Amino acid sequence: MDKSSPPGAEKSPLHRSEKAWVNFQPFLSSRGYELRARYHPDWIPSWTVHRSFYHEYEDSLAVYQDQVLDATRTEDGKKVVLKRIETDGDEMAIIKYLVTPSARADPRNRTIPIFEIIQMPHTPWSFLVMPYCRVFNYPPFHCRNEFVDAVSQFMEGLQFMHELNIAHFDIAPQNMVMDESRVVPNGSHFSKPRTHTGFHGLFAWNNRCTVLPVNYYFIDFGLSLYFPNGRDTALHCETLRTFPDIPELSDKVSYNPFMVDIFQLGLTVHKLIDAYPALEAFRPVATDMTATNPHERPTPANSLAHLREITAKIPATTLSDQIWEKDTGLWKKVTRAVLGGYRYDYLPIPTN
Ligand SMILES: [Zn+2]
Repeated sequence: MDKSSPPGAEKSPLHRSEKAWVNFQPFLSSRGYELRARYHPDWIPSWTVHRSFYHEYEDSLAVYQDQVLDATRTEDGKKVVLKRIETDGDEMAIIKYLVTPSARADPRNRTIPIFEIIQMPHTPWSFLVMPYCRVFNYPPFHCRNEFVDAVSQFMEGLQFMHELNIAHFDIAPQNMVMDESRVVPNGSHFSKPRTHTGFHGLFAWNNRCTVLPVNYYFIDFGLSLYFPNGRDTALHCETLRTFPDIPELSDKVSYNPFMVDIFQLGLTVHKLIDAYPALEAFRPVATDMTATNPHERPTPANSLAHLREITAKIPATTLSDQIWEKDTGLWKKVTRAVLGGYRYDYLPIPTN
């Protein structure tokens, strides 16, 4: 293989999961959403024009899944995220339930806002247009207050979903996002979210506690379940490959998926506490949420009350003190203090 070509470039520089977007591009463009150059049918890879190394060009950055992609709204240049789902599928039914004016009007609704749903004629697909967000746990938390704010929003949001008789059923860090607009004002690249533009260098951010409010959202309702008869009688029977730790999961014995949600959120809180030793005081909240017996797990509202109770006992100065992830070395602490962020070395600086 030519040194200037990415893996697989002999046939096409696009990953197989990306190719569908090239077919969707003209339609999405006609509906006011522009994809990056890489996904245009007439795209000519920059590195072939400049006869240079592919990794020096933004259009070499791939996305390795075929359902979700970033785009720019033509009308105002705003970055958004598009998700392709089945027009008649279960996920769309859940989404329609979450975007009703009354559901959206509730401040506890922490499901990702949907700007628009675009149905693609003559195909089974619709595109959800959503705000551009990033993983909720990076950049790192500055202080205990930031942790409490994030976890509170997710607990409140889960309570809200459960009151609508919807179990998310796939709660995990990758499905929990934050609106980065205030925290990372220089933005991030969808393929390399720890860079601003896809190239290496300094990734700088504002502490969340200095730019409040910061909104957190649940995304991805692809596994979500709706129980019109209510939460208490809800039963489901399915194993989840990605969650081997949940004790009651079974494809033979039915269980209540709302209690699985609580376990999954509790597991996520455990992981945050594992990452930041200074958060240890909050451990009992996560421990209760991950009780082996599903019936011993609190409701999200009760977990939130528990979190607030612990928080109330911590002095305000301690809550706003800087905390660090346990593997944070001196160099990172210095670059954060002096330069305002961390340096990443994904890609060389562009030369053209
Ligand atoms: Zn802070």
